[in-house]
Amino acid sequence: MPYAIAIDGPAGAGKSTIARALAKELQFIYVDTGALYRTVGLYILRSHIALTDAEAITAGLPGLRVTLGYAGGEQRVFLNGEDVSDSIRTPEVSMAASAVSAIPAVRAFLLQTQRDMAAAHSVVMDGRDIGTTILPQAQVKIFLTASAEARAQRRFTELQEKGADTTYEAVLQDMEKRDYDDTHRAISPLQQAPDAVLVDTSHDTLAQAIERVRQTVAARLPRSGQEA
Ligand code: C5P
Repeated sequence: MPYAIAIDGPAGAGKSTIARALAKELQFIYVDTGALYRTVGLYILRSHIALTDAEAITAGLPGLRVTLGYAGGEQRVFLNGEDVSDSIRTPEVSMAASAVSAIPAVRAFLLQTQRDMAAAHSVVMDGRDIGTTILPQAQVKIFLTASAEARAQRRFTELQEKGADTTYEAVLQDMEKRDYDDTHRAISPLQQAPDAVLVDTSHDTLAQAIERVRQTVAARLPRSGQEA
């Protein structure tokens, strides 16, 4: 039976970097579920449908196919066959992803893709509702968090490295709005599963955070890496 490690938490807590490192080490597949919501967000932006128009967004879903692929161990995401892995990494798409993710039809639309990945492979899957909704049977659940300031600082540095024209304040503001919306939506809100281990990385370097998660996993997945 495949193993599943679920890592949930707010934006910028380091989920994707940590999940990717862990998956590599365990030889599991890393599944970044945020990329799926981002792809739906991008599709809606491109379709010029208002992000507030849940009915039109729902009606647009049959025209959309979101698929995952892997190249050199890296996840790629495809929108109707087009590789959009890079175009989904903008602040505009982040906000669009958060808006569409509150729509029940969008969550239902992406549910099976996520469960299929976990049925076929041992996975480290990150997102907002993996431990609570998508893979409640996951052997290890981690809720990864950090203060809003620490998360905004990391995301700001990341965007700066990519040459994006933004400020720390703008990043913090976007992040706080996204966190608020993700935590307060009616369907599958961001919350810690009762059986998840809380890991706060506010005062950690990346290496320290990875090590803490690694130890948490090792304690709960004694045979980790043997059945990938
Ligand atoms: O993780 P990432 O920042 O790429 O996710 C983008 C947005 O997609 C989040 O703000 C959240 O609204 C949504 N999302 C979600 N459930 C997931 C993963 C992401 O609702 N499992």
